[in-house]
Amino acid sequence: SAGREGYIEKTKTVCTYCGVGCSFEVWTKDRHILKVEPTEGPANGVSTCVKGKFGWEYTNAPDRLTSPLIREGDRFREATWDEAIRLVASKMRETVERHGPDALAFVISSKGTNEESYLKQKLARQVIGTNNVDNCSRYCQSPATVGLWRTVGYGGDSGTIKDIELARLVIGVGTNTAESHPVLATRVKRAHKLHGQELVVVDLREHEMATRADVFLRPRAGTDFVWLNAVTKLILDEGRADQAFLDEWVNGLTEFRDSIKDFTLEYAERETGLTQAQLRDLADRVVRASDHSREGGVAVLWAMGVTQQMGGSETSTAISNMLLVTGNYMRPGTGSYPLRGHNNVQGVSDFGAMPDMLPGYQKVADPEVAAKFGAAWKCTIRPERGLDNTQMIDAANKGTLKLLYLTGEEMSLTDADSNHVAAGYGKLDFFIVQDAFFSNTAHYADVVLPASPALEKEGTFTSTERRIQRLYEVMAPLKGSLPDWRIYQLVAQALGADWNYTHPSQVMAEAAALTPLIAGVTYERLEGFKSLCWPVEADGTDTPLLYTKGFHFPDGKARLYAAKYAPRTQAPTSEYDLHLNSGRMLEHLHEGNMTFRVPGIAARVPDTFVEVSPELAAERGVSDGSWVRLVSPHGAVKLRALVTPRVFGNEVYVPMNAARHEDAVNHLTGQNRDINTNTPAYKDTSVRMEVLGDV
Ligand code: SF4
Repeated sequence: SAGREGYIEKTKTVCTYCGVGCSFEVWTKDRHILKVEPTEGPANGVSTCVKGKFGWEYTNAPDRLTSPLIREGDRFREATWDEAIRLVASKMRETVERHGPDALAFVISSKGTNEESYLKQKLARQVIGTNNVDNCSRYCQSPATVGLWRTVGYGGDSGTIKDIELARLVIGVGTNTAESHPVLATRVKRAHKLHGQELVVVDLREHEMATRADVFLRPRAGTDFVWLNAVTKLILDEGRADQAFLDEWVNGLTEFRDSIKDFTLEYAERETGLTQAQLRDLADRVVRASDHSREGGVAVLWAMGVTQQMGGSETSTAISNMLLVTGNYMRPGTGSYPLRGHNNVQGVSDFGAMPDMLPGYQKVADPEVAAKFGAAWKCTIRPERGLDNTQMIDAANKGTLKLLYLTGEEMSLTDADSNHVAAGYGKLDFFIVQDAFFSNTAHYADVVLPASPALEKEGTFTSTERRIQRLYEVMAPLKGSLPDWRIYQLVAQALGADWNYTHPSQVMAEAAALTPLIAGVTYERLEGFKSLCWPVEADGTDTPLLYTKGFHFPDGKARLYAAKYAPRTQAPTSEYDLHLNSGRMLEHLHEGNMTFRVPGIAARVPDTFVEVSPELAAERGVSDGSWVRLVSPHGAVKLRALVTPRVFGNEVYVPMNAARHEDAVNHLTGQNRDINTNTPAYKDTSVRMEVLGDV
């Protein structure tokens, strides 16, 4: 618990960085963070990575916002909370009156708590009357979720980290796990080194997991769908599928077989660049590991290398199809694991931060669901899908979106095509940014509301394992800032809503009563280091391994889904001759707004860079540490080159973090998007490189 002045306090919290969900005690004396001590975290035991262990000083950064700010011309002036909230409420009311509720949109932070997600989407739906609600899973994991909904029913990892450890074969596709999900990666490294687990890595870069793998495959960019289907077809054609599992648990085999009939080994070799021998070897490994006579099977991990493509959701579907054909669900040590990025990107979606779903993935279009929430909230739930994040920016550019209320996200750097985003912000009538810092996005705001980060609040986060955990207030909110949930309540009250929450536990109780997925979640059941993996039944029984009694469809059977190939649209040309890849690095989280404010981390990795292969460097005369300019049809950035054999040929790689905002990688990415979810196809970008030399 927080509070006794001059004493050392130990308070349990949950990591605010990645989706692994490490929990630990933070030792503090007043506002000084003395150390982070992992003891009994259900996801991490006694492990953390560098960010969880040392990444908390941003909480005490000297540039924390401590007063609301209101724009006056080109400048901002400090304002009282009362004045700022009154202005926000009056602009919201005025916009609804003049343009209707759909002229407003709400972006919810995936670093906020579940309770905060619930309240902000309630504000949008109950108080304003719009479904224009979304979160940053639109930029990363929405395609993976669609692939799972289509095939197995629930949009979450099918087991826990323990199941990944138990798997006999782990296949990592488009995931730089050692840097993006470090503690989870240590479990794979350990199982691989000590327990005979096989590891196959499929990626464009030879990152740490690739160097450790038994097999490292490097298909052409954007062709994962093809090799997945070719391997699945080969297994089916040779009669090596798990026929008993298919007969008992899976629908749609005939249509599915027909949908992949063209994915022959010859075609796959031509399209992906992998050899037929490599594809055969992979099929053999999958079949061998799927053998039911021993514990464990195949677990596939994937992340943004798969999802941030034109066909991100189709490829995610193909992964799940392959697992179904080989019987790799319903047993410990098997299944599908899209690795969630932000600490609470799973949870904010679970709690309704989606344009077509209320909490627990209950559809706004379902009349029974709408009636239930309408009765509880004394409002009408509209049946139409609202705008997602990318559509909000499009609507702002078109002039149909007038007011945007954004919490926490550094959207001006993390959405694709930063210049398009900035242009959209410029056309809004009113823009509210709520953040702990004056972010790059805040420059475009009309009002900035100072929020408290994770150590200063109570609530729950849900990790990639679907694991719900409590965080406790380590220190009181910095004077002048407020936890997001309190700010939403102030806005709702100023708009006349009868909201009187005094603690996030009341929000959870309300959400649980309306949401079967989390029916049995209570703060008592989450006390201390206790946790629950959803679905949670009313009696508190949770579900670490999904699908033990069947799949999440009315007949309990999974569905093989006939997905379609959506090849890349921005392949290199003579003008833009290099493929641009982007991603995370161990030390920084995404754009780096938190980690750049941790002096030790900022000193270690002070800026971003572009990785250039030795062969490309030799061809173009680029030396290690020299400056280059990358240019795409959408913008240009200036970066230092890091010449490294991690990348090959005409591939270049830029980490997402950027100390100089004008050089953030998304000035280069465009507006091509996953065909089902509108997730930007960040990885489908071509650039040219201008060599600037040492200046
Ligand atoms: Fe935090 Fe992820 Fe590191 Fe764990 S692995 S300490 S959750 S950043």
